[in-house]
Amino acid sequence: MKKLKYVFDYLDFIKEIIYRSNKTYLFLDYDGTLTEIVNDPGNAAPPSNLQHIFKEFKNENFIISIVSGRHLADLKKILAGLKTDMLNLAGSHGNEIIFAGRSFAEKPYPEMHVNKNNPLENIEAEIMRICGNTENIKIEKKPASFALHYRNLPLRQFGIIKKIIKFLEAQKQAQDFKYMQMKKVIEVMPSYFNKAATVKKIINHYEGYDKHNEKKWGGLIICIGDDTTDEDLFKENKTGINIKVTENPGSCLTLAEYYLKNPEDVLLFLKKILLYS
Ligand SMILES: [Mg+2]
Repeated sequence: MKKLKYVFDYLDFIKEIIYRSNKTYLFLDYDGTLTEIVNDPGNAAPPSNLQHIFKEFKNENFIISIVSGRHLADLKKILAGLKTDMLNLAGSHGNEIIFAGRSFAEKPYPEMHVNKNNPLENIEAEIMRICGNTENIKIEKKPASFALHYRNLPLRQFGIIKKIIKFLEAQKQAQDFKYMQMKKVIEVMPSYFNKAATVKKIINHYEGYDKHNEKKWGGLIICIGDDTTDEDLFKENKTGINIKVTENPGSCLTLAEYYLKNPEDVLLFLKKILLYS
């Protein structure tokens, strides 16, 4: 396992790279990255420091995007107190994107409940059957996926989660979908869902394509995230800077090169690169 580098030990080096790039794309996850994971996802309000950073920040060389698994409406609601008109907001792992300064969202993928061939509906029904009347498991429907939240499930009932995973593994042999187990959430989604695809879409929005229809990757890309979905980004962002948010850098399996310990660290890093660069 490679040793992760603590961002603050390399801050000058990172700032130098940013300084040399005429444009920096910053992709931020939300839960667990900008804010601590809380028992009720509805209460994951942005920290006040973040409000300060986005209010003060004026550097046009930065293009900032928040890419979250949350439903876009939910993400917008929770960020309502922030100055978000200069941010790109992507919800549902990129299935809904509002570009900075726009008021309407783009939905790049077909909606789950409109597409009759989508295997997710049957899978969701079976999972609901497995859960029965279990309290503390909540199914959240998103435009083209669904998530199973079990943050408040007592340990003695974790057998249900094992059963669900077993069912999903068996279904995966025959059906075209994927699932991700994250921190107290399992999300089931079409196999083409990928945060990296969202990031490409956002970059293309700014850079366009060249005459060979190849995407033009301009500038530096910095990705910061704490979860499995962020690994898709790290994998694609081969020449940029990838930062994993983890309290256990010694035992963390990740494709990132750097780490920050927690959302507090992330905010401090943002302050250092956005306000003092
Ligand atoms: Mg996260």
